[in-house]
Amino acid sequence: MGHYGNELAKEATKNKEKIYIKNIPKSQIVQQATQQSIEKWQTQWGQTTKGLITKQFLPNIKERLRKRIQLTPNLTAIVTVHGKTKDYLHRFRIIDSSECPCGTGNQTVEHLIYECPKLQRERERERERERERERERSPNKKHSKTRYLAEGKK
Ligand SMILES: [Zn+2]
Repeated sequence: MGHYGNELAKEATKNKEKIYIKNIPKSQIVQQATQQSIEKWQTQWGQTTKGLITKQFLPNIKERLRKRIQLTPNLTAIVTVHGKTKDYLHRFRIIDSSECPCGTGNQTVEHLIYECPKLQRERERERERERERERERSPNKKHSKTRYLAEGKK
């Protein structure tokens, strides 16, 4: 056998690989690799003790990736609770009170997003925009992806 046998074995291995790759569409391989990557990311996100507040806003990696969110310095500041709210400024003794100008509570990020009556119109507009984006993405599905934002805090 010797040298010729080795060549045959190499060739057989090569052909097998070619057949194997030919039988699985590239798109399926990419899809599986992406799925595994997202699952790994979700596990790490679930286990980390960092970013607890950010996790409340963005608990699910897959849903977050589906949303087309324009990341801006302000959005990042808000979801990481480093936004210049009165609560934040008061915590660092920059201002005397954390009371929101609406008079219904402390001006925290949660208050601004879910509760502040002064932002009710903007909140409704954003919910409608999100519902519209969801309808464009999946016209025949229910809008479960936007439930959290649309229905507000639980
Ligand atoms: Zn308020």
